Amino acid sequence: MSPFTYTRARDPDMALSDLVANPQAKFLGGGTNLVDLMKMGVERPARLVDINRLPLDRVEELPNDGGIRIGALVRNSDLAEHPLITSRYPVVSEALLSGASPQLRNLATTGGNLMQRTRCYYFYDPAFTMCNKRVPGSGCAAIQGYNRIHAILGQSEHCIATHPSDFCVALAALEAVVRLRGPNGERTIPFDEFHRLPGDTPHLETNLRPNELITAVDLPALPFAVRSHYFKVRDRATFAFALVSVAAALEVEGGAIKNVRLALGGVAHKPWRARRAEKALSGRPPNEETFRRAAEAELAGAKAYQYNAFKVELARRAITRALSTVAAMA
Ligand code: SF4
Repeated sequence: MSPFTYTRARDPDMALSDLVANPQAKFLGGGTNLVDLMKMGVERPARLVDINRLPLDRVEELPNDGGIRIGALVRNSDLAEHPLITSRYPVVSEALLSGASPQLRNLATTGGNLMQRTRCYYFYDPAFTMCNKRVPGSGCAAIQGYNRIHAILGQSEHCIATHPSDFCVALAALEAVVRLRGPNGERTIPFDEFHRLPGDTPHLETNLRPNELITAVDLPALPFAVRSHYFKVRDRATFAFALVSVAAALEVEGGAIKNVRLALGGVAHKPWRARRAEKALSGRPPNEETFRRAAEAELAGAKAYQYNAFKVELARRAITRALSTVAAMA
C-alpha cells in the first residue's frame, strides 16, 4: 500500500476544505471498497479524510411529500432494518441484505455504496496492464478475456464492466435523488444521472464534480413500492455479487398494470433502468406472458461475449420471475 496521511473531519465544511486543499485526497467512509483497492494498488490516495464523524447518519421522513431522506453515513445494516424502509420500500431492504456479509454491511455506508467500483478482475489487479478504467488508453483485457461477469447492456468498445451494487439497483427503480455538497454549495442529481455508461471515458464513473460530498439520498414517496421485490441471481447463496439482479415494483388496477418500476443489476456499467420493459408492461395484464415479452423487449439490444452469453437468458428469466413475485403480492 502506498503511504498516505490521515485526518478526521469534524463537520462537512472541514471535510470539503481538506479535499480542496489536497487534490489527491479521498473521503473515507466505511472503507469496505476503498481500503481493498488501496491494498491492491489500484487506488493510491495521498490523503484520507475520514468523514465518519459527520452528522449524516439519520433516516428521516421528508416534510410534505411522504418521502424519506437517508443520510450518507447510514450503515447498510441499519438501513436494511429501519422500519420506514421495511414498511415502505421492501425492495431496498432486500437489496441491502442480499449484498456482502453482515460484517461488511455493518460498516458500509449509503454514500459509499454509490461509489463502489467494478469488480472486473482486470481492473482489480494492476498486474494486468490493459484496463481503460484504471489506465485510460491502455485497452480492455476483458473484451477478449474471461468476461463471465461482464456487461450485456450499455457497454462500449472501451469497457464492458458492470456496476457491483445491489442497493443502487433498488435506488434506480425508485427514482431516488442524490444530495451533494461542494465548494459552491448544494445541489441534487437524479439517480439515473448519477452513474455513467462507459462510452470512451470508462474511468469516469459518476457525474460528481470535483470535491463534492454525497450528503444524503432521498427516496420520493411511492405508495405502490410497498409491493416491491429484489431478486438476485449469484454463484453462491451469500457474499457474492449479482450475475443478474432485478428490482421491481408493481401497481395493478382493474386487471391491468397501472404503474411499474424495473431496474437491473449485474448487466451494465450502471444500475440499469429497464424503461423498454416498463413501456411494454404498462396497461397489460400482469401475467407471465406479459412479463416475458417485456423482458424480451428490454433485452433485444443485449450484446454478449464469449463467456457471458448465459446472462441474456438469465436476465429474461430473472425479470419474469421478479415481476411474477411482485404480482402475486398485489
Ligand atoms: Fe478495465 Fe472495463 Fe475492460 Fe474491465 S471491462 S478490463 S474495468 S476497461
